Amino acid sequence: SIPLGYFGGVGGAAKRGILVKGSTFLDALTDVKTVIFDKTGTLTEGVFQVTQVTPYNDYSETELLTFAAIAESQSNHPVARSIMEAYDGAINKFDVTDYEEIPGHGISAKVRGMSVLAGNDRLLHREQIEHDTCNVEGTVVHLAIDGKYAGYILIADRIKEDAAMAIARLKKAGVNETVMLTGDNRVVAQNVADKLGLDAYKAELLPEDKVKAIEQYLRKTDKKSKVAFVGDGINDAPVIARVDVGMAMGALGSDAAIETADVVLMTDAPSKVAEAISIARKTHTIVW
Ligand code: ADP
Ligand code: MG
Repeated sequence: SIPLGYFGGVGGAAKRGILVKGSTFLDALTDVKTVIFDKTGTLTEGVFQVTQVTPYNDYSETELLTFAAIAESQSNHPVARSIMEAYDGAINKFDVTDYEEIPGHGISAKVRGMSVLAGNDRLLHREQIEHDTCNVEGTVVHLAIDGKYAGYILIADRIKEDAAMAIARLKKAGVNETVMLTGDNRVVAQNVADKLGLDAYKAELLPEDKVKAIEQYLRKTDKKSKVAFVGDGINDAPVIARVDVGMAMGALGSDAAIETADVVLMTDAPSKVAEAISIARKTHTIVW
């Protein structure tokens, strides 16, 4: 039988917006020694703003933004939403054909019959589009039109208000290692990691690289210690399914992630992770 204290623990956590799917995970939470975070939407707001539009090869700023916004109009990615937000013109969905999302890279589409690519360095490399390497700080969305480089759009995200405190609280709670995984570039990742005092980060990861990174951490952690992952759910479900304690943030989270998660955080505050661990430990003390 399940000791009564567990119900108190699961119920008590729920009252604070932390849904633990059963006593097994409440137990596992008490032994979490490694916490791995997704970046975009988890440690950062996931709401990018366009800060610069730099056209190349005779395009104007407006033209570049127009091509980008129309091509991105089919995507739900936070990167795409920021570009649509910055564009004032009307978008006719019939302007876009052959739309394709390339996870961890960007998108490809035809806009009024012209081939448009929008994405990161990796995408341009893969499609063999020659371009200058621009050393700018921020997330860069490169554009290519009909096989030629057309410029880039710079976008910036903000670190969540309670993210630094969230990391500090985990360390105080005895978590040995705090890590961030991201598909974004190294410059952005380094900046966030420094500001938050994270122990490690891995950048420029494809969704499948994130699963591999998780597996590495699972292998190197001793049997008694547990590894938790926290994500907002966009492309995170496979990682959430793989770790000891998979956590999804509910407010933004996708249905798939919420379903696979062991713990669902009803608010998007990363500090809820330390709170979940501390509730689990208190419950443990009462039960045993
Ligand atoms: P993360 O959530 O870790 O930032 P993603 O795998 O969702 O990672 O995205 C990784 C990178 O792929 C983004 O930083 C961006 O460079 C590129 N990307 C993804 N989707 C798009 C898109 N719709 N348009 C342009 N670039 C994109
Ligand atoms: Mg993400």
